[in-house]
Amino acid sequence: MNDSQTLYNNYADYLQQKYGEKVYKLPINLAGTCPNRDGVAGTGGCIFCDEEGSGFEGLPTYLSVKEQLNTNKEFFTKRFKAHKFIAYFQAFTNTYLPLESFKENIWAASELEDLVGISISTRPDCVSEDHLLFLKEVAEKKQLDVSIELGLQTVNYHTLKKINRGHTLAEFIESVLRIKKYGFEICAHIILNLPWDNETDVIENAKILSVLEIDYVKLHSLYIVKDTVLGQMYKNGEVDLIGLDEYVDRVIIFLENLRPETVIQRLVGKGPQGNLLFCNWDTSWWRIKNIIEEKMKGLSTYQGKSAKRSYYYYGE
Ligand code: SF4
Repeated sequence: MNDSQTLYNNYADYLQQKYGEKVYKLPINLAGTCPNRDGVAGTGGCIFCDEEGSGFEGLPTYLSVKEQLNTNKEFFTKRFKAHKFIAYFQAFTNTYLPLESFKENIWAASELEDLVGISISTRPDCVSEDHLLFLKEVAEKKQLDVSIELGLQTVNYHTLKKINRGHTLAEFIESVLRIKKYGFEICAHIILNLPWDNETDVIENAKILSVLEIDYVKLHSLYIVKDTVLGQMYKNGEVDLIGLDEYVDRVIIFLENLRPETVIQRLVGKGPQGNLLFCNWDTSWWRIKNIIEEKMKGLSTYQGKSAKRSYYYYGE
């Protein structure tokens, strides 16, 4: 067991234990849109979202699923001698594609050799029974683990409205309950430094994700991209951002209140290159990760420390 594993349940170690070796995620970018942009759930998108829909880490969308997977697989194989992979549909709202295109893309990915799982990023209000039934078929036929990544960002539904998510907490809970019936794992994305959230919201985030037995969490810090609604608000001086010290404290409080079984995929996001007004306090993500881990060691604290004392953890 390494250091970070004793502090929190970290993803790399979890994958290593589950599959017997390191597993690498291969990002896939599909040209798509989002119901929060085209008027179905909302218009304009989330106030922090740029045109890339969070797909900035991936390859261009004109490449096919197979081409993207093969290119990324080759890179990871050469650089890290990787043998096992998860196909990761990351940008935009992947289940918002027409069902037939969604199916074609998933089948194409499932053909990749050495694949152990498929991870699909989407919105809570875009996961239908048809998608889930189809994914069940793929999982069984191809013997793959399927996980669904749901953007939530915060459980504070007033903040969800302010950031124009186009859904509330209720849709997230409904989606989680539906996905769980199919036995798929769920990852929730949370931003811990939203300007309208305080420490109580941070704790409530952890408690609600614990009660729902969410399998994975990706924490992000809010980055601000030019030419977004949030970018304009930032320039107008309408948003107050917390400092790095407070972010570190919030991550620790979140982890303390989260059930120990939930696996942490990220403590802080990376943010896109360029075009930024604010990102991670001009500090690299790995430096922030180190600061959090060192502070946790100093405080002799760990994931679940407070959750274990809570009524909801024991179901009393
Ligand atoms: S749901 Fe995702 S893709 Fe859609 S606007 Fe929000 S951040 Fe962008």
